[in-house]
Amino acid sequence: MRWVLLDRDGVINEDSDAYIKSPEEWIPIPGSLEAIALLNRNGYRVAVLTNQSGIARALFDQAMLERIHAKMRGAVEEAGGHIDDIFFCPHGPEDGCNCRKPKTGLFQQFARKYGAELAGLPAVGDSLRDVQAAQAVGASPILVETGKGAKTVKRHPELDLPIFANLYEAAQYILFTQG
Ligand SMILES: [Mg+2]
Ligand SMILES: [Zn+2]
Repeated sequence: MRWVLLDRDGVINEDSDAYIKSPEEWIPIPGSLEAIALLNRNGYRVAVLTNQSGIARALFDQAMLERIHAKMRGAVEEAGGHIDDIFFCPHGPEDGCNCRKPKTGLFQQFARKYGAELAGLPAVGDSLRDVQAAQAVGASPILVETGKGAKTVKRHPELDLPIFANLYEAAQYILFTQG
């Protein structure tokens, strides 16, 4: 079983400083749905690992998050792809949880559920904390310049990792390098 781990906001859908609080606010980034379908066609399963502190901030609740995710899953299916699972952190920065990236809890939840080896797993994100969490578990972080990605790249020129314009290009790289 081969997996690719994806951050959600800024990787699959357009990010918003005002948070994604409803299905209407969930807008796919061009090519991201097709990227997931491309990975699936080549034998990869996709799991989403996402910080959703908007829940802790009472901007939306878990039922709304599920509606947002139903829209995301449906949009991916329409593009011929499939999201196998979604792991989210509902906590805020002050909650001291172990799942909010850059903490590694979401990766560990995923690994435990699927008996998956995290070492070397491609993990695509747009923020430094995505990279840090992936590095902490030995996964292979990949940055995309969508969402906060362009800012992340500019602020952290020291980052020595693959960087792509968007998820579609990152998916092509994953297929090229991992077969
Ligand atoms: Mg993000
Ligand atoms: Zn958490």
